[in-house]
Amino acid sequence: MGDRWLEVAERVWVRRCEELDLSLGLVVGDDGCLVIDTGVDADHGFEFATAIRELTDKPWQIAYTHDHFDHWFGTQAFGESAIWAVADGANYLAIGDDQRKKWAAKYRRDRREEAARRIGRSRLVPPNCAVRGAIGLNLGGRTVVLRQVGLAHSDNDMVVEIPDAGVLFAGDLLENGAPPNYDAAFPYHWPQNVEYLLSWKPTIVVPGHGDPVDYWWARTQTRDLAEVARLCNEVALGHVSEQEAKDHNPFSAATMETALQRSRLLAPPPPPAPIPEPPAPSPASAEQSRMGNPAFDQAPWAPVIIYDVFDYNIDLTQGL
Ligand SMILES: [Zn+2]
Repeated sequence: MGDRWLEVAERVWVRRCEELDLSLGLVVGDDGCLVIDTGVDADHGFEFATAIRELTDKPWQIAYTHDHFDHWFGTQAFGESAIWAVADGANYLAIGDDQRKKWAAKYRRDRREEAARRIGRSRLVPPNCAVRGAIGLNLGGRTVVLRQVGLAHSDNDMVVEIPDAGVLFAGDLLENGAPPNYDAAFPYHWPQNVEYLLSWKPTIVVPGHGDPVDYWWARTQTRDLAEVARLCNEVALGHVSEQEAKDHNPFSAATMETALQRSRLLAPPPPPAPIPEPPAPSPASAEQSRMGNPAFDQAPWAPVIIYDVFDYNIDLTQGL
């Protein structure tokens, strides 16, 4: 079967991959094209680059949606090009090295020796153009927007918007067919950031894994992400037990467990506030309570007297 193309809008393609159910992207303009993520290893990237060349011969630029290996280990095949990302190259290389070791070990455990070798020999190509906030890339006759997300699925998520086609490439902010991944996520920030990204109401949303979806599907998953954030908060406050959160969240017990771990790591619950002791009555407040409202005697704070004027002795008979 192998990987296949899906044209989701005019000159906007999604490459549906067998490995990890990944969705890569291609947007073609009159002068150039933008490649969104490059695949799980150099061989995969080479296959992807070859498939792109069957659709267009325009020069490419590359956008990385974030630094998880499956989104950028295929870049070697693309040669010299501008590579846009939020995190800088040093960060990419550090995390890439780490992930390469972990995934090679995982592939070996799964008895996928060939996959382990492929990832082992992939040369890592870090980004060379930084995205801060949002930038527009003119591809000739159409402008795409690369937008920094803030904290969400990772600390360096970036999405690609194609306003003229109503398409949003969401990276791993959304996942179709598998629960969203919280391994490096920010459970409290994630839903509100996705909600903001959906505010222009894109017609088609392309998740990092799984088939493209529509706006309403994306909105529903955002609501589910918000429910996970709410459960994390309620577990922290002791309103809900960890087991209840695992049993009743919209995704899976394992997903909830990771989200809870991350929420604890990132936002440890504040220590319980000490119960304030009422201050000992001072001679001055004893004096005031004799003159003023007896309710002040019970109040833990010292009353502030602002009506000294009552102490003036006004002679009402003056003028008679
Ligand atoms: Zn990811």
